[in-house]
Amino acid sequence: MKVFWVPKLPVSNLLEEGREIVNLILLGPPGAGKGTQAEKIASFFSLTHISTGELFRQEVSKKTSLGMQAKGFMDRGELVPDEIVLAMIQSVISESQNGFLLDGFPRNVEQAKALGTMLGSQNLRIDHVLSLEVPEDVIVERMVSRGRSDDHPDTIKNRLSVYREQTQPVKEFYAEQGLVHEVNGSQKVDTVFDSICQLLPKGGVQ
Ligand code: AMP
Repeated sequence: MKVFWVPKLPVSNLLEEGREIVNLILLGPPGAGKGTQAEKIASFFSLTHISTGELFRQEVSKKTSLGMQAKGFMDRGELVPDEIVLAMIQSVISESQNGFLLDGFPRNVEQAKALGTMLGSQNLRIDHVLSLEVPEDVIVERMVSRGRSDDHPDTIKNRLSVYREQTQPVKEFYAEQGLVHEVNGSQKVDTVFDSICQLLPKGGVQ
């Protein structure tokens, strides 16, 4: 068995000269492998991984009032209303000391604009948006085999149409700012991660 030693890069390797923080967004349809890649990227580049879906699932399992408010929307494959998501993300971002990697947020253009305002007021910005590209037939297959409670066939259909109608425009929103990098998400997990690492060169953020 071959054992590879992969050095953990300090965040500074990702940075433009003079910048101290790098903030990334990972976009992609449900089932594209965002969670898996997000964990790998966050750990490798020492970023805080912020997954709104995961935060909601924790609130639901703790039966908090936030969780109770979110549950119905999640079960139906709908987006949780913006005011609930934004209040939650605001507190997580303001506590984050490192750069961060957003996974599952923003999910519509209103959230993207609100994020811009939120970051602007703290002198922060989004540096890169990584878009995982996976065809729909592959996604449905992956989600059915994942077996999460909101991976029921009707919910999957709804989540995909919500993605097409509301989240796809987020990619256009950031593409107009020249921030989007597309990544082929149909490849093996490690190959996808390698492609992402090549987009985020050690030499700095271009
Ligand atoms: P995810 O794990 O990212 O697929 O999210 C699971 C569910 O949580 C989604 O289907 C939504 O109901 C809810 N959710 C997660 N992130 C957001 C967001 N940014 N805006 C609205 N709803 C969200």
